[in-house]
Amino acid sequence: MPHELGSLASFALRGAESLIARSGGGGRLSILVYHRVLARADAMFAGEVDAAAFDWQMALLAEHFQVLPLLEAVRRLRDGTLPPWAACVTFDDGYADNYDVALPILQKWQVPATFFVATAYLDGGWMWNDAVIEAVRQAPGETLNLTPLGLSCHSLATPRLRRKAAATIIACLKYLPPEQRRTAVWRVLHRASAKLPDSPMMSSGQVRALHNAGMEIGGHTVSHPILAGLDQAAAYAEIADGKEQLERIGAGAVRLFAYPNGKPGRDYRHEHVEMVKRCGFAAAVSTAWGAAGAAGDSFQLPRFTPWDGTPLRFGLRLLQNARREGQLAGIPAG
Ligand SMILES: [Zn+2]
Repeated sequence: MPHELGSLASFALRGAESLIARSGGGGRLSILVYHRVLARADAMFAGEVDAAAFDWQMALLAEHFQVLPLLEAVRRLRDGTLPPWAACVTFDDGYADNYDVALPILQKWQVPATFFVATAYLDGGWMWNDAVIEAVRQAPGETLNLTPLGLSCHSLATPRLRRKAAATIIACLKYLPPEQRRTAVWRVLHRASAKLPDSPMMSSGQVRALHNAGMEIGGHTVSHPILAGLDQAAAYAEIADGKEQLERIGAGAVRLFAYPNGKPGRDYRHEHVEMVKRCGFAAAVSTAWGAAGAAGDSFQLPRFTPWDGTPLRFGLRLLQNARREGQLAGIPAG
C-alpha cells in the first residue's frame, strides 16, 4: 500500500475485497473512464480530477486491482481467463493533459491505459462544449444574457453559478444538429466577449507518443457526433474515418472504439454497434455504468468512475461497482 493512502484505508479496502470476493463479486472487469486530468484544480471543471487526485487514484488501483490493457482484458473476459479484480483505465476525447499530466502518473504506477481520440480536434481544435465553458469562464460581470439566442439569462455571481450556467447551456445545445450547434456556440462566445485561448486538445505527435509509450489508442469518431442523430452513411463515415485517421498518424492498429456520449439507445443504437464491428474493431465501450461480465456484449462494455474525494470512499465505491453487472444487452435493435 502506498504510504500516502494511509493504513486505515488499506485495511478497510482489504476487508471489503475479501467480503465481496466471498459473495462472488470479483470476476468482473471494471473499466474506469476519465476525460481530463487537470494540472491543477479549475473551478470551471469541478467534476474533473487534478494531478494530485489522479496520482492517489492510480496508486490505489495499482495496489488493489490487476490493471490490464483493455484489449487484453476483453480477450481474457471472453475466454474466461480474467484475473480477479481486473480493471482498465480509459480516457475519452483526446485532451492534451492526458499526455502532459496523466501519462507520467500512469508510468509512475505502471498502469496501462486506452485513449479514445476524436480526430477532428487534434492539432488545435476545440470541442463545442469546451468552447461554451470557456465563454462562460471569460464572460465579464455577474450575468450572461443569452435571451436573444433563446438560451435565457444566467447568473454568474459565484463559481458554482458559472459552472451551472455552462452546464445549462451545454444541455440545451447537446442534441441540436451539428451545424446549428456550431453557429449557436459562436454566438455564445460573441455575447460573452470571449476569445478561445490555445486548444486544450492533443497534437497528432502527442497521440503518436502515447502509442510509442505503450498505451492503446482507440477510435472515438472524427467529430464526436451523437451517432443516433446522423443518417447511416454519415455515422459509418464518422466511425471508419476516425479509425483510419488515427492509424495514418501512427497510433498503431486501432482495435477499440468508444461511442461518443455513449448512452445505449439514446446516443447510439444497434445499427451503430454493427457498423463498429464492420469497421474491424475488436471491442467497444459505452458510458452505461457497471462492470463487464463474461456474458455481456464486448461491443458495449460498461464503464464507471468513482467520484469520491478520499481514497477510502473511492476504493469502496470501486469495489461495490465490481459487484454490479453492467446493463449491456438491453438496447433495442433497429
Ligand atoms: Zn467523448
